[in-house]
Amino acid sequence: MPDFLFLLESRLNPDQYRVVEQVQAAAAEHELHLYLVGGALRDLIYGYPIRDIDFAVEGQAVKVAKSLLKRAPDAKSIVADFDESMRSAYLTYPSGLTVEISACRTERRGRPGQKPQIEFTGIYDDLRRRDFSMNAIALSLNPNSRGLLLDPNNGVADIERHEIRTLSSAAFTDDPVRLIRAIRFKTRLRFNLDERTEEQFRAALDSGAIKNASPSGLHNEFREMGREENPVEILKALEKEGLTTAFHPRFVGSKLNLNGLTVVQKLARSIEDVGIPVRFQGPFFYFLQDKLPARDRNDLLKRMAMKRSDQEIWTSLEPRTKKLVQELSGKAAATPSKTYKLLEEQPGELLLFLLMKFPQKKIQDKVKNYLHRHRKMRQTLPRMELETLGVAPGTPKFQQVLDAYFWALLDGKVRSSKEPIKPLKKAIAEVEAGGEKAAKAAS
Ligand code: ATP
Ligand code: MG
Repeated sequence: MPDFLFLLESRLNPDQYRVVEQVQAAAAEHELHLYLVGGALRDLIYGYPIRDIDFAVEGQAVKVAKSLLKRAPDAKSIVADFDESMRSAYLTYPSGLTVEISACRTERRGRPGQKPQIEFTGIYDDLRRRDFSMNAIALSLNPNSRGLLLDPNNGVADIERHEIRTLSSAAFTDDPVRLIRAIRFKTRLRFNLDERTEEQFRAALDSGAIKNASPSGLHNEFREMGREENPVEILKALEKEGLTTAFHPRFVGSKLNLNGLTVVQKLARSIEDVGIPVRFQGPFFYFLQDKLPARDRNDLLKRMAMKRSDQEIWTSLEPRTKKLVQELSGKAAATPSKTYKLLEEQPGELLLFLLMKFPQKKIQDKVKNYLHRHRKMRQTLPRMELETLGVAPGTPKFQQVLDAYFWALLDGKVRSSKEPIKPLKKAIAEVEAGGEKAAKAAS
């Protein structure tokens, strides 16, 4: 049995690990039992990159989240959502990391697709209500059993077999959103459905169970699809099973814009390849609904019961990019160095959107030059030569001189990058003069 605490420490990034420590401290303050659950634990065991973190608390989870927020030095930058009736808290960090802290509960189902009756209980009941065995494992974060794995449904063995297995034969009819989840996980993790799960999946699909999917569940899946590493692949897999119409009845064939989305996703990758992160969710949604008539687009928003802040992820792209295009056509981008500084500030998704939607050659050239020429140039600046001129690497001055040289190079003020000494000396003088000026102004 691997040492899960060690895995936790070594596989979570510092941001994620800090959250685990903070939630632990907050739960201890209230003397509540705390467990790591859900996708993070599954991915930890599988060796897959960890995205979000879900916690289960035996008791008042909202209290734990509120204590965490009281102590967290960066509390102001965390967006917190509370659902008191579910005793759940959802935190979104500026890095995009989302954290769910929920009270352990059982769910009793009535008619298929109907909202379950909820009772707040302990961790074992909580694991039983979950969708698949691989998602029904818990890691104790309690002081006296920290690191102990609870796996009553043999989820670890299924992860090792790369199999998705339901916990009950009615799993898909009870909550038909799980049909979408099964395909999403299968595609993302390259797992198979186990034999009985496959049979249950087909039977539920054939009986049209997806019609009973809850709007909130669909909304969640729709949003999550946009956060996938390869959402287009997932969309294709869902279409193959006839599941995309659950989001909107028009989402089939060309209306799904799979071809357009494939092009956008490729372009997003090429931007990421030059080192600029792209939050693809916005462009993905924009181009996903691009081929729907306006009336259907509104209908989609209503069906998904999307909050304004969720919608803005894609509705804000067009106005924001228009503003950027205006700036790129005006004084703010009058020289190559100004253009560079302006584009450097932009998030990857905006550059992507601009390249897709604003075909004017002058603007396209500016962005492409930035992405594929100028950023590369910046990586090959004459650092060694600057060092030989007596400026110590790692100092602010070193960076300032390199920057001044780079702007001059971009603006055509350096005759040849093969003879950098003279222009470097000029850049040093410029930086030193600037420093003196600043010192005088301060005194
Ligand atoms: P991801 O990597 O996409 O975040 P995840 O497994 O963490 O995967 P979430 O949607 O974040 O998925 O849900 C967290 C956990 O909540 C799941 O692992 C699962 O245990 C449980 N869960 C979520 N949706 C359902 C559902 N429809 N039915 C049963 N359990 C669910
Ligand atoms: Mg999750």
